[in-house]
Amino acid sequence: MATLMPPRVSQELPAPARPVESRDPATGEVWKRYDAPSTLDVVRAVERAREAHPGWANRPVAERAAMLTRFRRALYERRHEVASVVSRENGKPASEALMSEVFVALEYAQYYAGFAPKRLRPHVAPTRTMGTMLKKVTIEYHPHGVVGVIAPWNYPFQLAAGAVIPALVAGNTVVLKPSEFTPTSAVLLGELFAQAGLPADVLQVIPGDGAAGAALVQAGVNRVHFTGSVATGRKVAAACGALLIPCSLELGGSDAAIIFADADLERAARGLSWGRFSNAGQTCVAPKRIFIEQRAFDAFAAHFAREVQTLTVAAASVPGAEVGPMIRPAAATMLEAQFADAIAGGAKVLARAKAPSGGEGFFPPTVLVNVTPEMRVMREETFGPLVPLVPVADEAEAIMLANRTEFGLSASVWTRDAERGRRVASQLEAGSVAVNDAVLTAGMSNLPHGGVKASGMGRSHGELGLMECVEPRAVLTDRVVSPRQPWWFRYGAQYDATADAFLTALHAPSWLARVKVLGTMIRGLRGG
Ligand code: NAD
Repeated sequence: MATLMPPRVSQELPAPARPVESRDPATGEVWKRYDAPSTLDVVRAVERAREAHPGWANRPVAERAAMLTRFRRALYERRHEVASVVSRENGKPASEALMSEVFVALEYAQYYAGFAPKRLRPHVAPTRTMGTMLKKVTIEYHPHGVVGVIAPWNYPFQLAAGAVIPALVAGNTVVLKPSEFTPTSAVLLGELFAQAGLPADVLQVIPGDGAAGAALVQAGVNRVHFTGSVATGRKVAAACGALLIPCSLELGGSDAAIIFADADLERAARGLSWGRFSNAGQTCVAPKRIFIEQRAFDAFAAHFAREVQTLTVAAASVPGAEVGPMIRPAAATMLEAQFADAIAGGAKVLARAKAPSGGEGFFPPTVLVNVTPEMRVMREETFGPLVPLVPVADEAEAIMLANRTEFGLSASVWTRDAERGRRVASQLEAGSVAVNDAVLTAGMSNLPHGGVKASGMGRSHGELGLMECVEPRAVLTDRVVSPRQPWWFRYGAQYDATADAFLTALHAPSWLARVKVLGTMIRGLRGG
């Protein structure tokens, strides 16, 4: 495979990034520091990735898949270490990190190690059109080249792995820029790949802040995979548009959960409590607006309030902790402002978990009622443990209100009526919908994950996520060799007769008319 031409490197590279630190969100203690990468460092990392690309891309996909299997082994062996690093810099309990980060990353590695060699094998395309009847067409899948992955802090290991794994197995080299709040989880991901035998510079991790992310987009990468907020996603999309490089954007959400009166309300309360408050409510696909059929409202609210009031809110280091601190005190302050806006507009607190004593950045899980559509909690993404309950008259109103948002990441429907579940799911504007469950679609390795509307574009995971990591190439070879193709120059009466015969043979409604022109068509094919 030839070395790819790098895309244009922007002449307006952003300012150098600032140093980044791993902090314990509960105490603010800094336990690791990384030097700032300069803009030139970022450009050089992309250059090294480009040099490493042909060697990696030329390996058979089965070899690249075998590397994923070795990575999976290494990750399994070091699973508790990874969970503890994620817990220390993100603030979630280590048991949660083991399930939602390590387990999910193991699943990605296993899925793509098995699936990629089958799906990326070149295959012959069906020959249906005039042109392809004369040609054998093979579809090949080529890597883009260097992929820039920009990741957030909320699932710092899993989300980075979910973007890096398909990119690598498809033959790309990757420069990963993790969030400035969680650099060590990504550094550990890089270490595990090195342990698995990934050649130097095929995956590089560059801890840095937003400026480093902006520099990466501009540094000559062939594609960008971005996960983060809508505001940053818009900037990344604009920069990629100016450079004409493809990007996929996994952005924020304000997912609706719809609970019908026939649902198992106690189970729904347990599922939605975990969905909303795990990871301290900082989950893109968390249910952030809960709509309940009016006649079940009080019963569901009572179950949900009980669940919330019994949550253990504490630093991840405290045994039994379920909900930790938010990533930074500033994030809790932002959520406080959304909460205050709702209270000022007449919302009431239905239930609140007990706050821990001491520690910074805690926002006790809180349930609001009496909310109105204008309130910020209904219009904006609430990225923390705060949720409104909203009564709805019926199915139609539930669907209308669920779709009344600029976001469209995922959603859930809770009912014992499977037919109703599917019917409502098909009318929700969302990238995925779970019936009687929440959140998990984002972590299922074989499902396409992504959003509609402002929640993003493109898909990660599953077959569609893999196909975003490649450029399909159609290669044509001859089935029939003629001295001249019938559509080449020599326009005139003969050309017109042949062209008309082709059109008639392939598209005339009458079979008799089609058969009559076959002789003219075959003469045309022979170049006569
Ligand atoms: P963010 O947008 O602040 O940062 C995301 C990443 O972008 C970070 O690495 C950051 O350093 C980098 N960045 C910042 N400015 C940049 C720029 N100008 N150019 C390039 N990179 C830049 O988001 P966050 O606070 O880290 O993450 C939380 C958000 O991410 C929430 O909105 C959440 O819903 C969303 N999210 C979405 C998904 C999904 O799959 N759809 C998954 C997780 C998180």
